[in-house]
Amino acid sequence: MIVILQSNVTEEQIDHVLQRIEALGLQHHLSRGTFRTIVGIIGDEEKLQSEPLHAIPGVAQVIPVLPPYKLASREAHPEPSIVDVSGVKIGNGHLGMIAGPCSVEDRDRMFRIAESVCESGANLFRGGAYKPRTSPYAFQGLGEAGLKLLREVGDKFNLPVVTEVTDPRLVELVSEHADMLQVGARNMQNFALLTEVGKSQRPVLLKRGMSATINDLLMCAEYILSQGNMNVVLCERGVKGFDSLTRNLFDVAAVPLIHNLSHLPVIVDPSHATGRPDLIPSCALAGLAAGADGVHIEVHDCPEEAKSDGPQALLPDQYRQLADQMKELAKLFGKTVSPLPEKMA
Ligand code: PEP
Ligand code: MN
Repeated sequence: MIVILQSNVTEEQIDHVLQRIEALGLQHHLSRGTFRTIVGIIGDEEKLQSEPLHAIPGVAQVIPVLPPYKLASREAHPEPSIVDVSGVKIGNGHLGMIAGPCSVEDRDRMFRIAESVCESGANLFRGGAYKPRTSPYAFQGLGEAGLKLLREVGDKFNLPVVTEVTDPRLVELVSEHADMLQVGARNMQNFALLTEVGKSQRPVLLKRGMSATINDLLMCAEYILSQGNMNVVLCERGVKGFDSLTRNLFDVAAVPLIHNLSHLPVIVDPSHATGRPDLIPSCALAGLAAGADGVHIEVHDCPEEAKSDGPQALLPDQYRQLADQMKELAKLFGKTVSPLPEKMA
C-alpha cells in the first residue's frame, strides 16, 4: 500500500500517520520528495483493507499494490483455471459451447432444441426455469417443473445443464437438478445469493451486471471463492450503452482484460450483449478471437413463440453454421471442445 500525503502536510500529521501504521503491526518507509511526501507500507496488505487510511488528516491518496480480489487474482493463481462441469471442461484451452432457449418451455420443444444444438457440437445445455424479468407480469419461468424437465433433457443427451438460480433459498433445489448454477446479471451483486452458491459445490456461471465494472465482477467472484467454491466461470454479456440499436454494449476487451487480472475462465454471451441475431455470429467469433473460454448462445426453433428473448434467438440451422465456424476458430487457437461425458454422474 502506498500513501501519498497532502502537499501541505505538517510534521505532526506525518508522525500520526506513521504511528497508525505501527499500531497495526506494519512497517513503513517514508520518502520525502521536493513537492510530495509518500509512505510505503510493508506487511500484510489485508490488515489494511478495512482501515480508513483516507480519513487520517494529511493523507491525499491511498494506492493499494495488490488487488482487493485476492483469490480471483492472477497473483494468487498464475495458471489459468479449468472448471469441470460434470465432465465438460471450460478454461485453459477448453471451450465451453453453451446453447439453449432463454427459458425452459414445453417438453417436446426442449428435447427438439437440445437434440439440434447437441448435433451442432454444443457441450452444455442452458435454459432458465427461474427467470428474473424486468416486469412482474412477464413469464417468470416454470420453476421446479422446469428444473426437472431440464434434467430429463440433460440425461437423455448426456449433456450437462446450466440454469439460473435467482434466490438463496433456491440454491439447494437448483443444485439437485443442474450441473452448473447461473447467477444472472441482475443478481451479480446479490451477496446473499453469491454466498449461498459459494457454499454449494456446483460450478457457477457468474454474469457481469449491466452496469458493473470488471473490478465489481471480480469482487463478486471473490464472494463465491471465499466460501470455498473455486469453480467459477465469468461471463461478459454486455453493459448498458447509449445506443438503442443494440440491447447492450458488447465489451469484448473485457475478455483479455479479465484474463490479465484473473485465472478464472471467461465466456461471452453475444445473445444478451447485442440482442440481435444478425450481430450474434460476428460477436461470438470476436469473443473467441479475444480469447474467450466459451460462448453462450440462445437458440429457439420458433422464436415468435418463445416465452422470453425470442427476438434474439438464433434458429437451430443458424446455430449449426455458427458452431462450425466457432469450432474452426477454436482449432486455429489450439483450443479443444470437450466431448460429452460418457455417462453423467
Ligand atoms: C439469461 O441468461 O437469459 C439472462 C436473463 O441473462 P442476463 O442475466 O445476462 O440478462
Ligand atoms: Mn435470455
